[in-house]
Amino acid sequence: MKVAVVKEDEPGERRVALVPETIPKVVAAGAEVLVESGAGEAAWFPDSTYAAAGATIVSGPELYDQADVILTVTRPGLGAVSRLRAGQAVFGLLAPLVHPELAQALADQGVTAVSLDGLPRTLSRAQPMDALSSQANVAGYKAVLVAAETYGRFFPLLITAAGTARPARLLVLGAGVAGLQAIGTARRLGAVVSGYDVRPATKTEVESVGATFIELTSVGSAAGEGGYARQLTDEERRAQQDELTGHIARHDIVITTAQVPGRRPPLLVTEDALKAMGPGSVLVDMGASVLGGNVAGSEPGQTIVTDQGVTIVGAGNLPASVPTAASNAYSRNVSAVLLHMVRDGTLAVDLDDEIQAGVVITHGGKVVQQATAALLQPTSEGGADVDGTGN
Ligand code: NAD
Repeated sequence: MKVAVVKEDEPGERRVALVPETIPKVVAAGAEVLVESGAGEAAWFPDSTYAAAGATIVSGPELYDQADVILTVTRPGLGAVSRLRAGQAVFGLLAPLVHPELAQALADQGVTAVSLDGLPRTLSRAQPMDALSSQANVAGYKAVLVAAETYGRFFPLLITAAGTARPARLLVLGAGVAGLQAIGTARRLGAVVSGYDVRPATKTEVESVGATFIELTSVGSAAGEGGYARQLTDEERRAQQDELTGHIARHDIVITTAQVPGRRPPLLVTEDALKAMGPGSVLVDMGASVLGGNVAGSEPGQTIVTDQGVTIVGAGNLPASVPTAASNAYSRNVSAVLLHMVRDGTLAVDLDDEIQAGVVITHGGKVVQQATAALLQPTSEGGADVDGTGN
């Protein structure tokens, strides 16, 4: 079995799917590892380090020609899909709930697609495979650095001969993996930190990393399945937005991380909340996406300054901006999924296995993962419900 590591082609993507340290483990499972020349360069892993770890450096066309399994961090572009052939497998964070058309294209090509974001994350044996957590952790850390870089004052309380600077007041909305890392990082920089989430279980987690938990009186628990939040009703959403506005106005920096799997991210910071913030305030919207974000008007990868002097940073691909740490973690995750699926030196797809039932998206020419397949079913109005809004 030939396992190949591609050079990512998405603009700004600096991560690589396998780092040299992981190669001996994959080789020990009976695979030969091919690495596209330059694949690790942007994460500071030159070709020579892969060759020294036992991999063969190849060109892009050689890789697609020879590989049985192709490892990516994100997903092959639709152009690359046409280079794949039936029987090949692709591993990545394919986001099939956001890009169901890619899943369909891979199925049509006869490619087996394995997406790490489908992992049943509550299984303890799946934890080493949890790329969503490892990358969210990197992103949460980096979001705070982005906020600190943008903010015009200090984070910590500083008492100097030139005067006393009060500490920054920072609010984290959404206290999952990224949010908790953001809270911890902001605390280490000396900010006074508060956190909020719709899942009540997060209260103790927020407090355990040294922040104050904000409880809203107008919205109850919105804990959903598998440790995730459910989507709020329109009424709950409006009540939440209204009550959050007062809290947001009392903070200098707001980092938002709220996501609902496969759905448009919830809007937490409205236009009114933005108007209530003082000049020099900073928001970093980690929920910013093409479907909309947690902050009104945010755009992924763009920084906007409002008329009131509030800076809104629409986070783009934050893990890619910490490429070595993010690649090290992802490499462990993707290799753990791969080795879980290898029997006697070849890939053995078994959809009765709980982990594989989550991560295998396409196989044998079909979209086999239920959530993605459901999304590709025409709705009663005639179109696929791609953004989960019912529109
Ligand atoms: P996520 O990225 O899907 O969402 C981030 C946070 O946003 C979540 O905490 C969610 O509750 C919150 N959120 C969603 N809608 C919101 C709203 N309207 N208002 C405020 N907050 C809102 O989540 P995640 O970080 O990937 O993980 C979610 C949970 O799953 C966490 O508790 C995490 O610990 C848990 N998890 C468990 C395991 C495990 O058991 N092994 C592994 C990974 C994650």
